[in-house]
Amino acid sequence: MSTTVIDGAHVVTMNAGREEHAGGHVVLEGNRITAVGPGSAPEAVRAGADRVVDGSGCLLTPGLVNTHHHLYQWVTRGLAVDETLFGWLTTLYPVWARIDERAVNVAARGGLAWLARTGCTTSTDHHYVFPRDGGDLLAAEIEAARSVGLRFHPTRGSMDLGESDGGLPPDHVVEDLDAVLLATEAAINRWHDPSPGSMLRIAVAPCSPFSVTADLLREAAALARRRDVLLHTHLAETLDEEKFCRERFGCSPVDYMESLGWLGADVWFAHAVHLDDDAVRRIGATGTGVAHCPSSNGRLGSGIARARDLRNAGARVGLGVDGAASNESASMLEEVRGALLFARATGGPQALSVRDALEMATLGGAAVLGRSADLGSVEQGKLADLALWRLDTFAHADIADPVAALVLGSRPPLELLLVDGRPVVEHDRVVTVDEHALAREAVSVHQTLLSSER
Ligand SMILES: [Zn+2]
Repeated sequence: MSTTVIDGAHVVTMNAGREEHAGGHVVLEGNRITAVGPGSAPEAVRAGADRVVDGSGCLLTPGLVNTHHHLYQWVTRGLAVDETLFGWLTTLYPVWARIDERAVNVAARGGLAWLARTGCTTSTDHHYVFPRDGGDLLAAEIEAARSVGLRFHPTRGSMDLGESDGGLPPDHVVEDLDAVLLATEAAINRWHDPSPGSMLRIAVAPCSPFSVTADLLREAAALARRRDVLLHTHLAETLDEEKFCRERFGCSPVDYMESLGWLGADVWFAHAVHLDDDAVRRIGATGTGVAHCPSSNGRLGSGIARARDLRNAGARVGLGVDGAASNESASMLEEVRGALLFARATGGPQALSVRDALEMATLGGAAVLGRSADLGSVEQGKLADLALWRLDTFAHADIADPVAALVLGSRPPLELLLVDGRPVVEHDRVVTVDEHALAREAVSVHQTLLSSER
């Protein structure tokens, strides 16, 4: 088992006491953290290590956890750039209807490699577009995650409420309810690894109240609970969705989901922007998770989620980049900054501290994905998922507080990103992919999707 020592960095542990060690050390053996503390690692440990990383001038944080994404959208960025959610979706559904295994594999490699560059070590993905002749799209993105080296929690998404039944998506991109349930259970059987050090876990994720039936939501919850996996969907993203639910179901999106058994410690919602006080209280009281996606909500003009209120109410709140077609930047670190700025713009300067913003992207995300025991902090026994940020740069060197430099400053170079103890980024370059070749592949897939006619 190989031993790595990182010495001399400012270590943000995110442990229970929120300890930080200026010039501290971390020791890793294999894929686990075996020691964390102030000062240098003991000389005997340094001498016996396979690798000693000089962390001076750097900030060491837990790897960031992304709780909401649609990786396939990496190859459909920059479209409908001035639209609302519903306008943007109806423009993009016909493009997405053409995706296939190659498109999803290239998009997922691009999206995940870029997430790595922005400090992310674990990501979920919400994939819900399965064209009939598209091939095995879940396998295509899982292969991508393995090649990039990120810890991956993909969901088997779905849509079964087409336009002719009053839904938003066109009929040719929705699936039949029974087919969805069979494919979802097959995905759990084939891929889900519940072990503590797992690199791959599956969740069940019907797309949204306006693209799936109540029957699918109910059956999906039953399936997830029978198989002990998590449940995920979009909720309360826009006022258009609120109007849709009031007209169709006579209640708010949260009332609707509660009536279908969709509140609880095994559920997380993306967005949760438009919530009244009672909805915030119920989400908090049930320990439901929320993926707060400030950049996407800003890009689509959807509104600002009540992240502080949700945290105070007891909800598990993480951060998400959301799909790359509604957040072309798709950077986890930018979501930390965005969450802080949004919270303070609406709630005043005390609404969210720089350390609480970072906490949402680490401990918060780990809690949302059910990984609190193994991820989210730099502590003995946890998995070796770490980000080492270089702060002795022109842009950061004289910022007094290193955590403020990371959260409030521009994105620092990422000196090293370790996932499961293995390097994915070194000296601000992803070492597991050829970045330039991948960019060319993404351009090619983008052009094919935009030019082909069915
Ligand atoms: Zn989304």
